[in-house]
Amino acid sequence: MKDGLWQAVLGEIELSVSHASYITWFKNTTLLQHKGNNLVVGVPNVFIKQQLERKFNDLVTATLKKNGVDPITVEYKIYTANTPAKKAEVIEDVVILNPSTEQAPKTPTSSLTHTYRQGLNERYTFDNFVVGSGNELAYAACQAIAQSPGTKYNPLFLYGGVGIGKTHLIQAVGNAVLANRPSAHVVYISTEQFVQEFLDAIRYKKNTDFAGYYRGADVLIVDDMQFIAGKEKTQEEFFHTFNALHQANKQIIISSDKPPKDIPTLEERLRSRFAWGMSIDMQTPDFETRCAIIQNKAASHDINLSPPVVEYLATNIQTNIRELEGALNQLLAFCEMRGIEPDLQVAAGLLGSSRTRPKHVSAKQIVEKTAKHFQIQMSDILGPKRDKDIVVPRQVAMYILRSELHLSFPKIARELGRKDHTTAIHSVEKIEKESVFDADIRSAIAEIKERLYA
Ligand code: ADP
Ligand code: MG
Repeated sequence: MKDGLWQAVLGEIELSVSHASYITWFKNTTLLQHKGNNLVVGVPNVFIKQQLERKFNDLVTATLKKNGVDPITVEYKIYTANTPAKKAEVIEDVVILNPSTEQAPKTPTSSLTHTYRQGLNERYTFDNFVVGSGNELAYAACQAIAQSPGTKYNPLFLYGGVGIGKTHLIQAVGNAVLANRPSAHVVYISTEQFVQEFLDAIRYKKNTDFAGYYRGADVLIVDDMQFIAGKEKTQEEFFHTFNALHQANKQIIISSDKPPKDIPTLEERLRSRFAWGMSIDMQTPDFETRCAIIQNKAASHDINLSPPVVEYLATNIQTNIRELEGALNQLLAFCEMRGIEPDLQVAAGLLGSSRTRPKHVSAKQIVEKTAKHFQIQMSDILGPKRDKDIVVPRQVAMYILRSELHLSFPKIARELGRKDHTTAIHSVEKIEKESVFDADIRSAIAEIKERLYA
């Protein structure tokens, strides 16, 4: 009977929201409890819970009313269910969402189940890629290729560290090419998979099928080329594939964690082929870009994070965007489950427990970097001058000494050559307050910290 009511409600809701919304937010919900006019609705994950609470609660309530239930409360709870008929227990604990697995939170635009076409994941698009220093050149090249594959930058060789967006960008090219021309033969493959398939092809004597498949691509995207190191036979096969495609003006895109010259045992002839087109070194996105990435991801969950929280995450996780996403998801899930706001304290608590500062910094380094940031002399900060453009940097230095090294106020005063420690107290308090409202101060602090720990 419970199910009957909820099915009726869902049926009406399906007619009043878009199909994508219905699939994403309502399809996998179920009625867990219905006592009097109190209802508990089971939902698969924290983001759906949040969305229903914030955006759709009025709709749910109104639809229930139409079906004869005037709800006093509708509560949304996360539950696990192996089969739709069997209601499993409600999970009370934190769900840690790991972006590298299929549990990654889904945005409303990407459907609940990813569609993989020829190895491509629809989640990776140009639209949800944040462009900034470090990746703008790679982004521009990928866009150009997506417009007219095979005509420019062939091959494109993208290289850079782990988790900085290589896979995202090269997959975005594939998705964009297919969007423009659905009949295009776009093939994405990881090098490890390529090696494995090649070995299988030899073993099962399907060599010609294998060669034919890859040589028939309009766009061939090969990820993580570093894994071809030491695989002589595969290198030879890839060499022939490369030549066939290149001669036919088909686009080849390659990624790697290092440039061709640093891939050990890469055959010279392959190395020289890779140099024919364009090689781009992707760098870690800078502080501002990292902030934008966090804001974007939070916004895709309909969550507005305060600037200090965004900056805290961007300051503490600098090199790997995958880790940055992981930390954000962990924070959001943690706060959601406890019904608290994701503020600085929670972020620091969560991140602090799992990470320690990678490097020890000294008081002197803090003063030095602060002076450098404000383009004044260290001796000015340590000296007696009271001009505004020296007083502010001095106060910022005190604030960072306190927040990073947890020095006592008398010690902070001593480090800056002052006798009176009450100035240190006032300075730290002043910067603390100002940094809430003043974006310039905040970004100055973040940049100084970034340099300290770089
Ligand atoms: P790589 O292949 O370089 O190891 P990925 O492409 O897998 O890195 O990126 C790791 C994660 O970070 C992915 O979830 C990706 O969507 C995300 N990411 C990286 N760079 C950006 C960016 N500039 N904008 C948005 N998301 C990004
Ligand atoms: Mg990758």
